[in-house]
Amino acid sequence: MSVWENWSGSVKAAPAQIVRPADEAQLQAVVKAAGKVRVVGAGHSFMPLCETDGVLLQLEDMAGEVKVAADRKTVWAPAGRSLRRLTAELWEQGLSLANQGDVNPQALAGAIGTGTHGTGAHLGSLSTFARAFRLVQADGSVVECSKTERPDLFEAARLSLGMVGVASAIQIDVVPAYRLEEKISKIPMGEAIERFDEIAAAHRHAEFFVFPYADEVMLKTLHPTEELGDPRDPSPHEDAIFQILCDAGSKAKFLIPRMQRFMTRASGEGRRVGPAYKIFPSERTVRFEEMEYELPRANGLPAIQEVIGWIRREKLPVAFPFEFRWAAADDIWLSPFNKGDGASISMHQYHRMAWRKLFADAEKIFRAHGGRPHWAKRHTLTRDEVTALYPMAEKFREVRRAADPEGKFLNPHLAELFS
Ligand SMILES: Cc1cc2nc3c(=O)[nH]c(=O)nc-3n(C[C@H](O)[C@H](O)[C@H](O)COP(=O)(O)OP(=O)(O)OC[C@H]3O[C@@H](n4cnc5c(N)ncnc54)[C@H](O)[C@@H]3O)c2cc1C
Repeated sequence: MSVWENWSGSVKAAPAQIVRPADEAQLQAVVKAAGKVRVVGAGHSFMPLCETDGVLLQLEDMAGEVKVAADRKTVWAPAGRSLRRLTAELWEQGLSLANQGDVNPQALAGAIGTGTHGTGAHLGSLSTFARAFRLVQADGSVVECSKTERPDLFEAARLSLGMVGVASAIQIDVVPAYRLEEKISKIPMGEAIERFDEIAAAHRHAEFFVFPYADEVMLKTLHPTEELGDPRDPSPHEDAIFQILCDAGSKAKFLIPRMQRFMTRASGEGRRVGPAYKIFPSERTVRFEEMEYELPRANGLPAIQEVIGWIRREKLPVAFPFEFRWAAADDIWLSPFNKGDGASISMHQYHRMAWRKLFADAEKIFRAHGGRPHWAKRHTLTRDEVTALYPMAEKFREVRRAADPEGKFLNPHLAELFS
């Protein structure tokens, strides 16, 4: 028996075996022989998606090349490859991803399988980049699916939480390599609320971070530039100070509002330019637990104001900032952005502080604003709520059953919602 835990440490499991197949043939043999199977990428999900007492597969080291299509608009990439490695390899080939999230250790399949997204008024999640999948099915056979080949399996695979097969390779959209200018500035919360639509329209990517007890937000914009430059690594000092403050705040909760105002004052503004794949990701060294809700775009700013107002009124101990982003509409069966353009609100809590009740209470506010949760982040949806929130949930379950009749790829959390 092995021991496994996710990035935040909130999900622990004791898989019978952790297996790192060297190639697709080995992967097929392991899946065929196994009773229960889950795949893990970088383990960056907060929900128990990778938890298993059966076989836990890790595909990071599996053999495979990035193959660029003749028109240079798509590539086939090994599914277990980290975004960090993949985006560097794409850069070498003169290519980039159209968007990325906050960090890049995730496996390509892990990011696509959960609807991981960045920010951008007109940019969809990474799931929208997928054009085709090579999937190892429960019986060990390999199938390919795309819009034209096994279209139902493809639609399910675009955001599947790993329930319709183990992806060995994924064909994704890519764009010509580009550079970004990042600008970080502090503006009053009221101004951010008033001007976010205008700022987000003027930049390819815009977002803000705000501590619930601070009066200013940290606004971050990214926009394509031709300017050359290699970005410096982020200073480790800010995170070290934040870690100390979080530890202090977890012991003396009354200090949290003062600390947040101090952190906001102390946080640096700045500008840097560089290759897109180096500018998108940040380092996250202070661990947290996270819940994220995706809301109809017009409800995003009212919802974040309401949730912050509630935290202040109730004097609740929330140590981490909120993150506010936009993502574009898609048509993916299980995507929380499939009803229209969305706003995304991430609520974080320091990993050593209580989060369960806080998140559950805040969830009511986000739900009242028409929100649906990020599948990889903390939520309390029941099977009936999934059915009510997702018109295609039953169709997804039907395709899942056909792909995996014995439930080899299910664990208790997924069985509860999708069996
Ligand atoms: C510090 C941090 C920052 C984050 N930033 C963002 C962000 O900016 N935007 C955002 O949307 N999310 C963000 N997330 C969430 C994160 O992107 C998702 O949890 C993502 O799924 C993590 O990728 P992973 O490789 O770690 O996947 P894991 O958590 O390991 O797995 C996720 C799911 O993918 C499945 N899976 C993995 N590999 C395969 C495969 N080969 N075939 C089939 N299924 C597979 C797993 O079984 C599981 O169901 C962040 C998380 C953390 C901890």
